[in-house]
Amino acid sequence: MQEGTAKQEDIEGVQCTECGLMSTTYSVVCRRCLSGKLVKRKFDGRGRVRTFTILNVPSESFAADAPYAYVIVDLHEGCGTSGWMPGIKSAVDLAIGDEVVCRGRRGDAAIFVKTGG
Ligand SMILES: [Zn+2]
Repeated sequence: MQEGTAKQEDIEGVQCTECGLMSTTYSVVCRRCLSGKLVKRKFDGRGRVRTFTILNVPSESFAADAPYAYVIVDLHEGCGTSGWMPGIKSAVDLAIGDEVVCRGRRGDAAIFVKTGG
């Protein structure tokens, strides 16, 4: 698990065939146009940090990793998503706009790491 050689992992989601809205949250109808014509698709796990916060009080399954960053990421393919970044223990360790990549999942949570580029 080296930071510099982060391999990319796809993120599953849906796209509306009527209006084009993309989401990494599964739903039955499109939240923008209410169409039921949603198709599953995968997103390249690369993006930029839109915002983040440092979690000092984690849920039970993440207790051993705290503190860590909970991040909102704008994927380069045009879809927003969220995830967490182990190893980011303070706000000085990450910045808005940093390039990140999804490296895997723990349960429903995408794990992101900095790409350093
Ligand atoms: Zn739609």
